[in-house]
Amino acid sequence: MYHPICATCGTQFAEAAADPAHCPICEDDRQYVGWQGQRWTTMAELAARHTLRLEDDGGVLGIGLAPGFAIDQRAMWLPTDAGNILWECVSLVTDDAVAALKARGGVDLIAISHPHFYASMVDWSDALGGVPILLHEADREWVMRPSSRIRFWQGDELRLSEGVALLRCGGHFAGSTALHWQHGPRPGGALFPGDALQVVADRRHVSFMYSYPNLVPMKPADVLRMRQVMEGRSFDDVFGYTWGRNIRGEGRSAVDESFERYLRAVGVETDEVSSRKKLLTMK
Ligand SMILES: [Zn+2]
Ligand SMILES: [Zn+2]
Repeated sequence: MYHPICATCGTQFAEAAADPAHCPICEDDRQYVGWQGQRWTTMAELAARHTLRLEDDGGVLGIGLAPGFAIDQRAMWLPTDAGNILWECVSLVTDDAVAALKARGGVDLIAISHPHFYASMVDWSDALGGVPILLHEADREWVMRPSSRIRFWQGDELRLSEGVALLRCGGHFAGSTALHWQHGPRPGGALFPGDALQVVADRRHVSFMYSYPNLVPMKPADVLRMRQVMEGRSFDDVFGYTWGRNIRGEGRSAVDESFERYLRAVGVETDEVSSRKKLLTMK
């Protein structure tokens, strides 16, 4: 028995005697099955071919596979007033990486933006001493390896401390979540949106897609709703889903401008009042 890992999306599955026939995450229209057909790997195979890269990324410790694997996100270790948070997750767990995190004070909880980054979350929790994994309830059906470590939260906001909150953005997935760290890692604060808001190549804007690999735009009503959830949150920096994909400084105005730019591009009137009216009529 072993825990198969999908080679295309990097999700670890429940214990099995053989490779599953399908990966529901890849067969979903937001992802894709690998061009060679559905392929599987294991933790041991990953450990033989990859190492974990623990490196500073814009003032935060990032954790990702080298060479890159699957969607190639990097997790981040956030020392906050809500405890040390492992934000996002990756498919490989190594003793060296766990020891390095423990040497910095360990991890108190894991929080993940959406199902594409669930990866090997249960193995990571076990290796870190059985810490809780916070996922949004709306994405429960996408958990491929159930565990008592997983705690589903509901609603639009879960406040973890005075300075840290999980915000339900929706849009890409119904439960797509961003982490807002009000005064960290720099005093002006930061937003960690996974790909609910995707930091784009110019690193001065974000954009919004239902599917990134298949280029299906997000519904304007979902983007307008996300803008409301973001209202009144200040942050200087925005940390995207992978290495270097960050907006450093003036992040809040970059996000505001990006909401306007996107809504204009999909033909929605952009002033605040008309947007709210549209939101009501679009439901
Ligand atoms: Zn998959
Ligand atoms: Zn995604």
